Amino acid sequence: MDQIIIENLQVYAYHGVYREEREKGQHFYINAALETNTTLAGTLDDLELSTNYGEVCRFLDGFMKTHTYQLIETVAEKAAEGILLQFPKIRRLTLEIRKPEAPVRLPFESISVKIMRGWHRAYLSGGSNMGDRKRHLEEAIEALRADDKCRVLRVSDLIDTKPYGGVEQDLFLNCAMEIETLYTPEMLLEKLHEIEQAHGRERQIHWGPRTLDLDILLYEGCIMAAEDLTIPHIDMHNRCFVLEPLKQIAPYAEHPVLHKSVCQMYEELPEAERSQDIDCLRRLP
Ligand code: AMP
Repeated sequence: MDQIIIENLQVYAYHGVYREEREKGQHFYINAALETNTTLAGTLDDLELSTNYGEVCRFLDGFMKTHTYQLIETVAEKAAEGILLQFPKIRRLTLEIRKPEAPVRLPFESISVKIMRGWHRAYLSGGSNMGDRKRHLEEAIEALRADDKCRVLRVSDLIDTKPYGGVEQDLFLNCAMEIETLYTPEMLLEKLHEIEQAHGRERQIHWGPRTLDLDILLYEGCIMAAEDLTIPHIDMHNRCFVLEPLKQIAPYAEHPVLHKSVCQMYEELPEAERSQDIDCLRRLP
C-alpha cells in the first residue's frame, strides 16, 4: 500500500515515569508511515481525496501536548488509535515515538517505541432462537455500529435455519456481518460477549437455545487456537447456517487454513445439510 511519511516531527511534551519529566518536559520526535491508497488523489491532484499530512502533524502535536502518560508505549498506542479514528483514509500506520533526552545515565542517541496498528477486516455470525429474534440481531448490529472501533460494512439477510447439534428447540434466525475493527481478536471476542450479555445470554446447554450468539468466523488472514478463541471458527465450514448468509456478503472470502472460498465450502456441504436448511429458509424483510 502507498505511504505518506512524516519524519522527526518535533514536539515538546510531558511524558515519562519520573516526576521531573512530567514537570519540566522534554523533546519528542515522531516518525509515522501512514498507509493509504493515493492513486485517486494523485491522479486527480485533489487533496480532498487524500489525507492532509499537515492535519496529521497538528493532531500529533496537540495530542502529545494535551496528555501526560508515563510510558511512550501508551503515547504511541493512543496516538495511533486517534489517527486511525480521525483520518478514515488511513488503513494502517507505523508510528515511532523517539525520546532522545530520556533519563538514562549512559551515552545513547535515542530511545524509541515503534508500533504498527490498523483496521482489520473480520466476518462475524449472529444467531438467535429465543424471544424477539429479529430485535436481538438488529440490536447486536446497532451495538457494533455504536462502537467507534468497529465499522459495520455489510450485513446479510436474516435467515431462518433449523437448529444444529441435536438439541430439540425453536428455529434460529441467523445472519453474517462484515466489519472492520481496531480490536485485536481477543478484544473483539470480549466485545461480542459484552453484547451477548446485554441480551441476557446465559451459557447453559451446549448448542442449546440462546437469545443471542455472536461468533468470529474470520479475522483477516489470522490463524489462532487459544484456549478460548479459535480463528477461523473451528466449525464454520460444516455449518450451512453460517455459510449461507456469509456467501451472500463475502462469497470469495478465503478460509486461511483450508484455502477454500466461502462459496466452495458451501458447495462442499453434504447435500442433506444444505437442503435441510434451505427447506426452511425464509428471509425476513
Ligand atoms: P458459543 O457461544 O456456544 O458458540 O461458544 C462460545 C465460546 O466459544 C466462547 O466462550 C469462546 O471463548 C469460544 N470460542 C472459541 N472460538 C470462538 C470464535 N471464533 N468466536 C466466538 N467464540 C469462540
